[in-house]
Formats: sequence, structure tokens, C-alpha cells
Amino acid sequence: MTTPDAETKMQFLFALRSRGVTDTAVLEAMESVDRGLFLRGIFADRAYEDVPLPIACGQTISQPSVVGLMTQALQVSPRDTVLEIGTGSGYQAAILAKLARRVYTIERYNRLVHEARKVFQTLRLPNITSLVGDGSHGLPDQAPFDRIIVTAAAEDPPGPLLAQLKVGGIMVVPVGQSDAVQTLIRVRKTEFGLEYDELRPVRFVPLLEGLGKDT
Ligand code: SAM
Repeated sequence: MTTPDAETKMQFLFALRSRGVTDTAVLEAMESVDRGLFLRGIFADRAYEDVPLPIACGQTISQPSVVGLMTQALQVSPRDTVLEIGTGSGYQAAILAKLARRVYTIERYNRLVHEARKVFQTLRLPNITSLVGDGSHGLPDQAPFDRIIVTAAAEDPPGPLLAQLKVGGIMVVPVGQSDAVQTLIRVRKTEFGLEYDELRPVRFVPLLEGLGKDT
């Protein structure tokens, strides 16, 4: 993978805008993080296509426009502490790290965490803490969070994650059965309770219990 040329980057940003990613800070963050660093072999050459691609452990790096739309929906500010469930390649966490004060990201495969950490170091992103674990329980030690993003599909927004969201906080999570099209939901926690918005149809791998067996 070579660094993308100006034409490739322009087409990438054009594709993101045409699919609804319009927030300038999100677009700048996505322009500054080379997706090719999170991919291996032949897939690195396809980094600037707006498609999900395979990574290790049978998992996927999400489609860039979906990463952009989820990040935009999260409305991250530079003061925020963000929790991500499902590190995968680390691409989404790197985008968040450009926008937030601190990012905690949890992944059930040790191998993916190990590989993502190397890229975070290459990109000099010291505000990411990446952990191996079952993220459906959240990270009670560091709670509450300003923002929570789940990048795997849950049948319902996980209760422990809702409990770890600050009042005034936002959580974005794909909800639905793993073998079907799911709905991306935004949850806002107010002093009066939880408000739910249905954003768009999406397709994600399932949020699974326990640790993954590295392959
Ligand atoms: N955010 C990722 C990226 O930028 O590459 C893409 C995430 S991929 C679509 C979903 C990830 O969620 C997979 O790596 C999967 O192993 C992970 N996952 C599924 N269930 C999990 C759980 N309970 N805790 C932590 N990670 C989980």
C-alpha cells in the first residue's frame, strides 16, 4: 500500500459526501487517517473503495461511509471521552481519536487488539486505550462516558452500556438480528430518560459474548 494520491483522496471524500457524511470535522478526520494502514495484502490496495473489507479473525473493517455516518451521529466534541465496542481493525477508533479527548476501545480478539495497537503507534495516537475483553459489559472502571459507539449488532442496546452513558450522552448502536438488515439507533440519555432515533439500515457482524479464539 502506498500513500493515496490527491485524486484518490478527492474521490474518497466525494463518495463520503454523496452518502451523507457532511460534518467538516468528521471529513477532515477521515482525510487524515490512511485506511490502508488497517488492511493487509491485496485488501490494502482497495482501502479507498467505499466497501467493507476482510481483516484477521474472520472480521471486517466497516464501509467508510458507514464509519463517517456513525461518527457524525455521535456528535463528538474535543472534551469527550468515548467508548467503542468492537475495535476490529482500529480504523473507527483512530477517526474518533482525532475528534475526542480520549477513546477506550474493546475487542474480543487478542490478535486484532495487538495489530490495531501497532497502527495507533504508527499514527501517534496516544489518546487511545485498547483492551481485550467482552465489550458488552462496557468498562465500568472508566464510566461514565460522554459517547458510546457499538460497531457490532446487538438485539437490543446493551443495558450495561446504557448505564455507563452520562446524562447528556449519546450512544450509537446497530440493533437487530445478526442474519438480517439491522437499524442504526441513536440513544440520547437525558435527565428524564432515554430518547431513541432510528437513523438508517445497516449490516454488522453480531455482538458476541465472551472472548474470541484467535485464528
Ligand atoms: N470498528 C471496526 C473497525 O473500525 O475496523 C469494525 C468492527 S467489526 C464490524 C466488529 C468487531 O466487533 C469485530 O472485530 C468483532 O470481533 C467485535 N466484537 C463482537 N462482539 C464483541 C464483544 N462482545 N466485545 C468486543 N468486541 C466484539
